[in-house]
Amino acid sequence: MIKAMVDNVRASHCLLCGGRCLDRCLCPACLNDLPWLDDSCRRCALPLPEHEETPVNTRCCGECQRDPPPWQAAAVFRYEFPVDALIAAFKYQGRLTLADALGELLAARLPPDWQDSLVVPVPVHTQRLRERGYNQAALLARDVATRQHMRYQPDSLQRRRVTAMQKTLSPAQREANLADAFSWQGPPLQGCNVLVIDDVLTTGATLSALARVLTEAGAGEVRALVVARTLPP
Ligand SMILES: [Zn+2]
Ligand SMILES: [Zn+2]
Repeated sequence: MIKAMVDNVRASHCLLCGGRCLDRCLCPACLNDLPWLDDSCRRCALPLPEHEETPVNTRCCGECQRDPPPWQAAAVFRYEFPVDALIAAFKYQGRLTLADALGELLAARLPPDWQDSLVVPVPVHTQRLRERGYNQAALLARDVATRQHMRYQPDSLQRRRVTAMQKTLSPAQREANLADAFSWQGPPLQGCNVLVIDDVLTTGATLSALARVLTEAGAGEVRALVVARTLPP
């Protein structure tokens, strides 16, 4: 009976199917059905063609072998249903309990050789922060740093101005939109590797802009760990 009471107190409901689950916002069955991104390029995090024969941890897609971006990324999921809905609930509907669940998944996806990184969130402008009340990337970044015992620097990377919604812009417009949007206000990085945390990686334009700023501040490698990777159409 005591056990039943304890279960009742701790029980919650799966955000996707409404079923009962303990301690989590997703039940094991729904978690299992999510669009996991298992086999992806070490640099751009896009799925690799199935016939690749190189060892998994050194795999790079053809595009990145020819012209690598100034960052490397890892993603937990493909940005597809229902992960897109979960991220929207987390980002815009204040489902903050998801920070814990998504943080756990991100921490588990961290490549072991990235553990030496300094963790920073992709910043939001103070105006957006006031509107929304929190920076979803910062909640995830803090959670990952805590779980993996990594150094966390929440406020050094800053967004100088509100950028137009990236979604609505062409690649060239995205780049112009992001030039000078960020700055590093922390101490010089002196070769330290930096791990940027965000919810979604789309074109990588934001990451490239951040990589430029972080490299100028003395960063070694710029790495990114995201919940979901948008695949090209
Ligand atoms: Zn479920
Ligand atoms: Zn690639």
